[in-house]
Amino acid sequence: MALKLAIPNKGRLNEKAVQILKQAGLDFDDAGERKLYANVKRRDLSVMFLRASDIVRFVHSGAVDMGITGRDLVLEAGVDVRTVQDLNFGQCRLSVASPDSSGIDSVDKVKDGTIVATSFPNMTRKYFAAHGKKVEIEEISGAAEITPHLGVADIIVDLVSSGSTLKMNHMSEIAVIAESQAVVIANEKAYKREKERIDELVSAIKSVLDAENKKYLMADVPTASLDEVRRFFPGIAGPTVMNIMGREDVVAIHVVIDKDKVYDAIIKLKKMGASGILITPIDRMVP
Ligand code: AMP
Repeated sequence: MALKLAIPNKGRLNEKAVQILKQAGLDFDDAGERKLYANVKRRDLSVMFLRASDIVRFVHSGAVDMGITGRDLVLEAGVDVRTVQDLNFGQCRLSVASPDSSGIDSVDKVKDGTIVATSFPNMTRKYFAAHGKKVEIEEISGAAEITPHLGVADIIVDLVSSGSTLKMNHMSEIAVIAESQAVVIANEKAYKREKERIDELVSAIKSVLDAENKKYLMADVPTASLDEVRRFFPGIAGPTVMNIMGREDVVAIHVVIDKDKVYDAIIKLKKMGASGILITPIDRMVP
């Protein structure tokens, strides 16, 4: 039977989830928001598009075997699913924020009876209970930051990434409840039953993530500089060195380097007398 993988049909996590899966070598068409199923060109996997918040529920019930969603939604649902991979995108935090004019600049200053607007009622309830605060929760489905201005809430609990939305609404973060990012989750029973296939898919995804911070560098360097090249690129197995036909004085080197080292590497290679330097992206890195 095909492994069923659910990914967000829209919103912040959709585009990157599709990109990672495609880069991992899964060829499917995503024909936009109204589509439910993707046509995957292999029979052992089916990809379906669901709302990010529903994905946790369907993975938990076993309606789908795996899903890509936000950790915040997994924590809010409070159900038992297995997180099999962090995805290094969709980073945000669930925070308590208050209007700058409220004088509430820490959770200690939140009085009993304070109204908190949030679309994360379960985590909010737990958080304030753990801090010994009796707050009232106003459950909303989005745009929490507007509620204090409407007079329907005193403070909010919402997802924050840059903080610019809060700033625009004259609010400040006063506490972080949880950190989040996109994750791959699996149904516990499906994981036991299909461990091998799930691990294969996860390692394909991981190979894409590992490649994201790397670049492939090629250059022609004077043979006399090879020792220096080796010293400069110490963290890896060592550059691949190839002869250039008819040249004794120059060799070609190929090396995988961290993206943030490319700038300095080029300066260094130029000083060594390198030429023909090429930098290319890497789709996947499989150890
Ligand atoms: P959506 O509401 O469909 O755009 O997806 C929401 C998910 O995107 C959340 O559950 C988070 O996991 C993630 N996310 C990442 N950054 C943010 C942010 N600044 N605000 C809201 N959601 C975010």
